[in-house]
Amino acid sequence: MIDQKELLNQLNRFTKREHTLDEVYLFDIILCDNEIDRDGDCFSDHALKQLAERFVGVTGIFDHNPRCGNQTARIFRTELCADPERKTAGGLPYHFLRANAYMVRTEGNADLIREIDAGIKKEVSISCAVGKQICSVCGGNKLQKPCTHIKGRMYAGVKCHTVLDDITDVYEWSFVAVPAQRNAGVTKTCGGCADLEKEEMRRVLDCTGALLDRLTEELRRECVRLCYKSGENACSKALAATTEHMSAERLLALRESLMQGLSAANSKPQLIPQNAESKHPQMHAFQFGRQEP
Ligand SMILES: [Zn+2]
Repeated sequence: MIDQKELLNQLNRFTKREHTLDEVYLFDIILCDNEIDRDGDCFSDHALKQLAERFVGVTGIFDHNPRCGNQTARIFRTELCADPERKTAGGLPYHFLRANAYMVRTEGNADLIREIDAGIKKEVSISCAVGKQICSVCGGNKLQKPCTHIKGRMYAGVKCHTVLDDITDVYEWSFVAVPAQRNAGVTKTCGGCADLEKEEMRRVLDCTGALLDRLTEELRRECVRLCYKSGENACSKALAATTEHMSAERLLALRESLMQGLSAANSKPQLIPQNAESKHPQMHAFQFGRQEP
């Protein structure tokens, strides 16, 4: 464990003038880890290393609590840590990113410092941009080519998740009221990628829903048409009302049985006029095709 004096030395590399231990408040936070979070995402170890480098010097914000005014804290040191006792849900050794932050003590942030000391403020959220979102099933980068694997679903006994890799930018870190990540109390915003993904999923669902509605309506009409075609006018009117609340699946079954009924009726022997053959357009076409040059 690094001692306070050494921490202060490291801190003073980031400040315009030297600070004493009385002037600053030092605290540590866990920025993120490699555990699979509630969104089904996790950082790769490579991404954690990149985050460790990039978060040094980055300023944190405190909710948007007016009491806190413009108070900020800054990370001056990061450390990638391992917990040998623990494995992630994906079976990997558990790694997390710890950061040392400081605030210059002022009258205005005394309450905030008390809250952090008391452990009230301990959930941290980070936002960063990633260059790769790797599917755990096929290994493809979803940002380049979306695949069909769905996060949270099981494939060959393994739950699908997304591995966030190749950090391209980090924006900020902040204390949040509600923790979103399972373990470290950390959430990540990935430069809005998660929101975009959800938005895209909503769009796809909307489109699929609308398409299903259209197909169901089409099926409904066809069932009524088939019933009408079979010569049961009264039946088709009753059917039109009944099909209103039928699912696409039930409509398909109904159409099947109506078509079977129709083809059975058509296969019955019928009276054919003598000249029917020559009047039949399809027969003409067939004969034309067979003519010798
Ligand atoms: Zn995939």
